Amino acid sequence: MVKAELLGDGILSCRQGGVLLREEILATIDNLGLEEFKKRVFDGFCINQEEEEALLSSISSGHHILMLGPPGSGKTAIANKIAAILDDIEVVEGCLLNCPPQNASCPWCLEKKSHGILLEEGVLPASERVKRVQGSGGLTAEDLIGDLDPEAAFTQGIYSLGSFIPGKLLRANRGILLIDFIDRVPERVLNTILYALQGGEVSIGAFEENISLDILVIATGSEKALKFLPLDIIDFFDVVKLGYIEGHDNQKQIVLNNLERQYHGVETITDGNIEKVIEIVNQTRQHPEVERGVSTRGMIKYSEVLASYSQFVSDGEEELLHKGASVSLPHRLGIAPEVDLPGKRKQIVNEVVNKVVGAEEVEKELVTLSKDDILALVEGIVQEERIRKPLKYGAFDLLLRRVQQFPESKFAQIYKEAIQRLQELYPERYKVDNLTDELLMEVEEERKRKERINKALQKEALSETLKFLEEQDIIERSATGWTLSQRGITFLLEKLTPRLDEGVQFYGYGKHSTGKKLTLGEGKVVGVRHFRFGDRYRDVSFKDTIREALRNRRRAITREDIMVNIKDIHTKLNMILLIDLSGTMRQLQKLWYAKESAIALALAATRYGDNVGVVSFSNLADVVVDLTSNPYRVTRQVLDLELHENAFTNIGYGILKTCDLLAHHPKGKAKQHIILISDGDATAPHPSPEKSALRQAAMAVRRGITISCICITQESSNPELMRRIARIGKGRIYIVGAEELTTTLLEEAAMVHAS
Ligand SMILES: [Zn+2]
Repeated sequence: MVKAELLGDGILSCRQGGVLLREEILATIDNLGLEEFKKRVFDGFCINQEEEEALLSSISSGHHILMLGPPGSGKTAIANKIAAILDDIEVVEGCLLNCPPQNASCPWCLEKKSHGILLEEGVLPASERVKRVQGSGGLTAEDLIGDLDPEAAFTQGIYSLGSFIPGKLLRANRGILLIDFIDRVPERVLNTILYALQGGEVSIGAFEENISLDILVIATGSEKALKFLPLDIIDFFDVVKLGYIEGHDNQKQIVLNNLERQYHGVETITDGNIEKVIEIVNQTRQHPEVERGVSTRGMIKYSEVLASYSQFVSDGEEELLHKGASVSLPHRLGIAPEVDLPGKRKQIVNEVVNKVVGAEEVEKELVTLSKDDILALVEGIVQEERIRKPLKYGAFDLLLRRVQQFPESKFAQIYKEAIQRLQELYPERYKVDNLTDELLMEVEEERKRKERINKALQKEALSETLKFLEEQDIIERSATGWTLSQRGITFLLEKLTPRLDEGVQFYGYGKHSTGKKLTLGEGKVVGVRHFRFGDRYRDVSFKDTIREALRNRRRAITREDIMVNIKDIHTKLNMILLIDLSGTMRQLQKLWYAKESAIALALAATRYGDNVGVVSFSNLADVVVDLTSNPYRVTRQVLDLELHENAFTNIGYGILKTCDLLAHHPKGKAKQHIILISDGDATAPHPSPEKSALRQAAMAVRRGITISCICITQESSNPELMRRIARIGKGRIYIVGAEELTTTLLEEAAMVHAS
């Protein structure tokens, strides 16, 4: 309420309107008593104590509520229950905005009054006071506010109230607007939701009348929603985070309560198996390849499945646990899409069940790695050339030296732990401290012996480290040495993904609260067709409608003449990243940034449904990865890229090679696009490297291929050439530092879709 006063008179008056709904809720709580009220909202629900308290205090304050949590934490169910606290109310019969009969003030009611039409009283049942909106990229402001009915607009005119059909937000007036997955609502639509949150006056398009709203908003979103929602939206909510039920005792209570309800006291599942169900579910939440473990709901379902199995299957208990798990758990795991390979989920569930059931004895491990350790390790291995190269070529001695020279790397730390562990495991073999330093000073022979032992220890520790990482399936043997395994790449992708999410908006909305509008998924107009009932007003093409009316020799436009635009819903992209590997990238870190950005692009592509390829060039050019939608393939190939020392920069040939690659793929409806990363300092072919680059760019455009350029700034860079290529290529130019490559590339990918 304090806020309302600050916002000025106009809004204050509406705020007072808002108070009516809040007062109603307070009155309900008063009538029922807090205990009964609590029962209505939470009955049959497992929710942590603090969460329950937070929700109750928000509800009784009449605040808008945003519930965040992983799937299966009960957000939507609780939102529905809260909505159910409303009672029937009196309204003006037929008023879509649910005006109260004493104060019918919406434009429609006012118009009726002005025509002398008597407003009749009616009752709006509680269930109809709740309007649900499902957040999705396809949601439009018109869905919420309303839209012109094209047919009525042509007959009654667009300024007639009769032509306007109010949307869900307006219809939620004097009730509750439930927004599921508010974090999936496009940003421009979020601005509309602000009306409901502020309780402000809405004016619609061409109409003069303002409509004041009294709406309580209850929204749900994923755990990460706060990262995507603009601050000015979040600001209006009480945010309540719902998690899975924690703590063994609570979990067991919930499982037992539920089984009791289902089977009325018949013991269907042994206590030992209930314990194991709880343990298995909790273990899925800690598995390194799982983003989000099995939910509370999943735990309950698993126990139910076991209970029903035990009634008609006579398997042993272990067998039951396995069977039940494979039915009720795999699909409940949250796994990053790029990791979610066929069979992966089953494999993880099996691992966990085996571990809990005890089928696998505990190994005597060299080192224990946490998830964070593993992620830092894989990134270190691919990012740090001083480790990556000797590993790749199996240069054991060099690797040993590097590990000692750069002790801060994760790899070196594991090696260090291995040394310690070996000394603990085999004290007699590596007993070096049985000689005091004083003694050593005197006995040269002993000193040498100690050195030898030390050397042997170091070598063994390194091979143990490598063996360990192989066993952990993080690295695997290649033709020459070691590379990241499939699982290692999975971890790398996981490590890189959250960083990508922070930088750029994938879905066309994000941090920019005032709205850079990205129109992903809303394609260009590709044609027109006749109007069908339900088409949106904004899709009507007036030009084509008039043409159609003329063709039909009409004197006035009829419904049969209305034409609407057909839009291309999604543009698919075939995108090639053209990376300069000549002197440009001489500094090692730059090469990593280029690799990272290529991987990022491949990951982003999986979300867009695009294909990505990579071509590298220096003197000549190589296809590093052919067009693919598989980020693994891109990652594996890109990680192996090496600099071409002392090589020329032949941009023209790079473009040519890329065009050839694109030509080998059926284009279909896909857009073809090249993103060139270079410093633009073309040095080959002799004698006119720049002319060659520009000529190839022009050829590409003639084949329908667009080119954007990312120019990495450094001493020798030539942004002018890059700018000209981008201009010819009908693309964009970015001039950035190497560390900005990844965000720039993702931005570019979004731009290509929008254009
Ligand atoms: Zn009304």
